[in-house]
Amino acid sequence: MDKANLDWSNLPFGYVKTDFHVESYYKDGKWSSLQTMEKDTIELSMAATCLHYGQEAFEGLKVFEHKDGTVSVFRVDENALRLQRSARKLVMQEVPQDLFIEAVEKVVQLNKRFIPPYGTGATLYIRPLLLGISGRLGVQPSEEYLFLVFASPVGPYFKEGLKPLKFKIEEKMKRAAPGGTGDVKVGGNYAASLRVTRQAQKEGFKEVVYLDAATNQYLDESGPANFFGITKDGKYITPKSETILPSITNKSLMHLAEHDLGMTVENRPVRVEEIHHLAEAGCCGTAAVITPIKSLTYQGETITYCETDEVGPYSKKLYDLLTSIQVGDVPDKYGWNRKIDIR
Ligand SMILES: *Cc1c(COP(=O)(O)O)cnc(C)c1O
Repeated sequence: MDKANLDWSNLPFGYVKTDFHVESYYKDGKWSSLQTMEKDTIELSMAATCLHYGQEAFEGLKVFEHKDGTVSVFRVDENALRLQRSARKLVMQEVPQDLFIEAVEKVVQLNKRFIPPYGTGATLYIRPLLLGISGRLGVQPSEEYLFLVFASPVGPYFKEGLKPLKFKIEEKMKRAAPGGTGDVKVGGNYAASLRVTRQAQKEGFKEVVYLDAATNQYLDESGPANFFGITKDGKYITPKSETILPSITNKSLMHLAEHDLGMTVENRPVRVEEIHHLAEAGCCGTAAVITPIKSLTYQGETITYCETDEVGPYSKKLYDLLTSIQVGDVPDKYGWNRKIDIR
């Protein structure tokens, strides 16, 4: 089949309607088989728990075309497990791992003409969504659930490639608190962070890095991405906290740093003062892989990691290695790519 007629090299990172999405409903104690849907709208009870009480969780992952034309999805099993953790925390029905993977494969096969060609920097972004759909007025978990997966071709998050950006340490506002839902991928956390990002952007920053809500002394993460730093002696350090969402990108970078680049990796509570002793800093997540931090502003002081727009050597090496594995240019020795048959 011919590829869709899109300007692949100039795609924004945004929503593009594709041909189909897939849906499964949980009703009467079981998940339905996957339905292929053409419309990109869903019909819901206006009393659905996802709308009133935030019973909603999501995932995000990417599909890559390799040089030889084969197609793979990155660490889909990890996303399936994470959606189950999110579901448990919001007292939602868990999606079986097999159903999750089947839905991702099916949505890719159905929309194969939207898989961006190798070498364009664009990818097929996959968005699984889990919604509580029973009509309720009292505050109670839903009985019925909708699991849907859609796909959208996206350009690289930053057109220029790795471009260092200005961040600030957010000292007052929080996205998550201990004992809350910061460690799961739910829409509510994002709703809580929008105002913070907007304020930071008004002040000229790309994003914030949060401090822990209990003591304001330790680094947490950025709004949609984990934080990491490279110490002056070449260690990869990344905060451990119960209010951080465990990023699969960060997990992969930690693994590559340790096993392929021979770096020491420290995943531990990181005091905010440590930002003064870093050589490089960045954020990581599926969308951008790595966003290098040009400078961090904290208590009126700005610490600069990139004097020019040149990204630090460790961040660059990690980015190149991870993205090369994803597109199949480097052997996938850890078995992270799952091939999808699109014939
Ligand atoms: C999705 C997400 C990330 C990044 O996770 P990846 O699995 O690497 O995409 C980081 N922080 C938050 C809050 C997220 O929602």
